[in-house]
Amino acid sequence: MIWTRGSTSNEFRLSRGILANGYIVGDLAVDAPENMPPRNVKKVIITHAHCDHIASLAQVEAEIYASVLAKKAIEENDELSLLCSTLYFDVDFRGLSILPLKDGDVIKQGDFNFQIIETPGHSEDSICIYLEEKGFLFAGDTIFPDFMLPNTDLPTSSIIKLKDSYEKLLTLDIRKIFPGHGMPFEEKDYIKSLLRQF
Ligand SMILES: [Zn+2]
Repeated sequence: MIWTRGSTSNEFRLSRGILANGYIVGDLAVDAPENMPPRNVKKVIITHAHCDHIASLAQVEAEIYASVLAKKAIEENDELSLLCSTLYFDVDFRGLSILPLKDGDVIKQGDFNFQIIETPGHSEDSICIYLEEKGFLFAGDTIFPDFMLPNTDLPTSSIIKLKDSYEKLLTLDIRKIFPGHGMPFEEKDYIKSLLRQF
């Protein structure tokens, strides 16, 4: 089962521009946005530590995985990496224990292998999660719909690293992209199109 919250369910939050998606694949979840702690899952993988993607993390009862940098940011409640106050969230993650992920790690869950792809750019701690069996990419804020590039004006952003990350993603056989905001869509040379914007 793949479940997503679309981008039209809460007008107020949309108006703040911070509504993020969470996905559940079997008993693994990707991200834990506000008011939607993933339930009945065994593992949660965080795409990056921006607060709109992790606001309900303190209520998660499953194992939580994140990149080494995101783990550090969350456990230390580092505002420059989390942007919680900036995004008007009143949360504190100190006391949480996160399991570290690095590039190439594979998390097995049920019949699926979730491969971790480090994709710095939008933020230094960003990862994508590649489900090779289906060609699905859970992209966090590395890829947005509608040919928009993600924000790279944030404290740990790098437009140069974003371009490198897109080139790295081109080496995968991605068929469908599940972005951190907006609706999922077919790849169809989408990343090549993004690269033409640099
Ligand atoms: Zn973000």
